[in-house]
Amino acid sequence: MARTRRYKYFAPTALLLMIVLLFGATSGTLAQRRKTIVDLIIKGGTIVTMDGSRRVIDNGGIAVKGGRIVAVGKTAEIDRSYSAREVIDAGGKVVIPGLINGHTHVPMTLFRGIADDLDLQEWLTKYIFPAEAKNVTEDFVRVGTRLGLAEMIRSGTTTYCDMYYFEDAIADETFKAGMRGVLGETIIDFPVADNKTNAEAMAYVEKYVSHWKGNSLVVAAIAPHAPYTVSEDHLKAIRAFSDRTGAPIVTHISETKREVDDSIKAKGASPIDYLNRIGFLNDRVIAAHVVWPSEEELALLKKLGVGIVHNPQSNMKLASGVAPVPEMLKNDMPVGLGTDGAASNNDLNLWEEMDTAAKLHKLISRDPKVLSAEEAFEMATSRGARALHLEKEIGSIEKGKRADIVIVDLEDLNQTPYYNIYSDLVYAAKAGDVRTVIIEGRIVMRDRRLLTLNEEAIKADARRYRERIVQSVGVKTLPEE
Ligand SMILES: [Zn+2]
Repeated sequence: MARTRRYKYFAPTALLLMIVLLFGATSGTLAQRRKTIVDLIIKGGTIVTMDGSRRVIDNGGIAVKGGRIVAVGKTAEIDRSYSAREVIDAGGKVVIPGLINGHTHVPMTLFRGIADDLDLQEWLTKYIFPAEAKNVTEDFVRVGTRLGLAEMIRSGTTTYCDMYYFEDAIADETFKAGMRGVLGETIIDFPVADNKTNAEAMAYVEKYVSHWKGNSLVVAAIAPHAPYTVSEDHLKAIRAFSDRTGAPIVTHISETKREVDDSIKAKGASPIDYLNRIGFLNDRVIAAHVVWPSEEELALLKKLGVGIVHNPQSNMKLASGVAPVPEMLKNDMPVGLGTDGAASNNDLNLWEEMDTAAKLHKLISRDPKVLSAEEAFEMATSRGARALHLEKEIGSIEKGKRADIVIVDLEDLNQTPYYNIYSDLVYAAKAGDVRTVIIEGRIVMRDRRLLTLNEEAIKADARRYRERIVQSVGVKTLPEE
């Protein structure tokens, strides 16, 4: 009897269950279909967006498609609308815009530590220029670039601005590594490794800039070394080339007091006044250093939209002086941070530059409020993007921007505990805390393992060059060899 009754209820219950299951499956599929498929989702982390309202999103999510950010919000919102084959769990970590190194000479990694503790002129003329004359070839440049790229990616840099020789080879290595760069071919008024005359150099740049036009990662630029190493006629031709092609101009301006004094003696004007007089400055110029501008010159640079890159450690090491960065920030100028070449730093670590920038300006002004951790972080990200005239593309985690994203640990001893995310990032985090790096939506380092560069091969190649460099210019090594 009992068995029969159970039997009697079994059929309708089973039917109901089947309907529920079927409906559930169908509605699940529908929900799945309503989700937009993207390439990559990063979720669960604390997102420091650096957007206009400085949003910091706890348990945030980012959807990435076609190399760009398509959505930023809470993880739950991203989960509701997007699905992806590749999902990175950033739980317990901080997610930041990729750092921007605004000034490098990337192959100079191979000269790291060749001659230290000298002033700029002695360092340049007695050591760097001769060492370059004897060693720089296209292969040297490629090896040094790969070394620099590996060092930068491992420390969370996703864009760099460079100036060197054989820049086309640098661009090639940069593109292959999946890194972003504004890369300037050097123009200087003496014969150098890749070009022996100005005519050769200008022909090189012509070909180089047209070769990379429209590339997603490489912005090919022209880089007159400085107003004291390139003639007025050549500077005017460079400006005309930039006007015609749209190529940015990367240069050094007012790095030392001596440069300013010499310029006044020789040309009757400071470097900035002189460059303005010859019609060289505009909003495609990216000027490294600007350590010695007057107040009027700062106003002029602002009016003309010149990007500025502050290199605190290089300026300290060469005792060049302290750029008036707090004044630049007060005037909301486009000023970023750079390491300069590894020979004058001696690394390509933006974390140290942020930390140094904040502390240097406090010390020199004797005012701890003069440059905050948030402002230093901004110089390495959103303001740094403005310095390179790339603010529409990079510098923040926002819908529509290129997906240059870095995931940083928050749990190392040096970060424990933390109270304020900007203080943690600028004063406590180290380059070694960077875990995963994404450039243009592509993962180039995952859990500290480089995916586009071979670290062991890079180190072996660099050591091979070291032997050659030691012999070529008689480097005094310690221990002695
Ligand atoms: Zn430099």
